Amino acid sequence: MSGYIPYGRQDISEADIQSVIDVLHSDWLTQGPAVPRFEQTVADYCNAAHALAMNSATSALHAACLALGLGKGDILWTTPITFVASANCALYCGAAVDFVDIDPLTYNMSVAALERKLIEAEKLGKLPKIVIPVHFAGQSCEMKTIKALADRYGFKIIEDASHAIGGKYLGQPVGNCRYSDITIFSFHPVKIITTAEGGMALTNDAELAAKMALLRSHGITRDPTQMTHEADGAWYYQQITLGYNYRMTDMQAALGASQMHRLDGFVARRHEIAKRYDELLAGLPLTTPWQHPDTHSGLHLYPIRLKLDNIDTSHRAVFDHLRAQNIGANLHYIPVHLQPYYQAIGFTAGSHPEAERYYNEAISLPMYPGLGDAQQDRVIEALRVATSK
Ligand SMILES: *Cc1c(COP(=O)(O)O)cnc(C)c1O
Repeated sequence: MSGYIPYGRQDISEADIQSVIDVLHSDWLTQGPAVPRFEQTVADYCNAAHALAMNSATSALHAACLALGLGKGDILWTTPITFVASANCALYCGAAVDFVDIDPLTYNMSVAALERKLIEAEKLGKLPKIVIPVHFAGQSCEMKTIKALADRYGFKIIEDASHAIGGKYLGQPVGNCRYSDITIFSFHPVKIITTAEGGMALTNDAELAAKMALLRSHGITRDPTQMTHEADGAWYYQQITLGYNYRMTDMQAALGASQMHRLDGFVARRHEIAKRYDELLAGLPLTTPWQHPDTHSGLHLYPIRLKLDNIDTSHRAVFDHLRAQNIGANLHYIPVHLQPYYQAIGFTAGSHPEAERYYNEAISLPMYPGLGDAQQDRVIEALRVATSK
């Protein structure tokens, strides 16, 4: 046993470091030129018309919901197998949230379950205003089908692509918003590229982009065309809506822009690691991640599922064995509807059986560009020992 292997970690180059130092030597630590430069880089990469950097994906999800008009009396649906932020954004807006169970192969929101739930909701007059599909582990949801359902049932789509920058769907970059209103990325250090904390909202809709730009900076505008009357003078600005301070700093944006140069390399390296796991784990009593042929995953995570019927040990024991071997295995995610906060507002265990079954079997193995073969071999050996009991 030797050094600690986390489940994910950032990869910072000397060029990344220099890009941040350059900002520190410049006139602008925030609200300067690095932010729009980073936004343009990501928009160009994704082939989206507008990109708005924010201080987190959580903030970007909130601003996206508000820009789409989510409020009291509205309902938002997402998947239970996600980080809590994908659901919390509805509650920030005073809206209700509900969950659609996962597909047992991709672990993404099941489009069949979504359709069934929409048919029921239409009868009850309780259709969602927004659906947030989450591209779990970096693999895109079946967006074409979800978009067709949106057109049929009249809901808006926010793609939570926090795991998926650098991934593709039907050969096109995730983030192009071809099948959605808004796409969100996260740049937390465990994600594909990082700005320390940070997120981004992409859209092809100029009006939504303008709304999110206002919301991320106090609802304040300096654009005379948005003001209620002519400017009082050169100093003048107007607050025209209630916004927040959700801005990204120039230091973060410079780091993000520098990381973008290596995005394709990061994703390629993640695919090498996944391929090696796929091959070397093939004989063990577990399921490796399945890839839908329409997708090229960003591979933020590598979640395996234990075949508990084929082994004499428990999920918990396998997990504990990995941790005891100094391997930072993790579990993405505790189904959101099982969180105490969500149980307290009325959600119950048993309501999303595929998600709950997944939770009882899943382990996220270490997956990040800097994971070496020898470290990966340690993970595989620890799993082999733990599951041979
Ligand atoms: C990480 C993550 C978020 C939140 O991202 P932050 O940038 O940390 O706010 C939201 N949704 C999903 C699916 C995530 O993985």
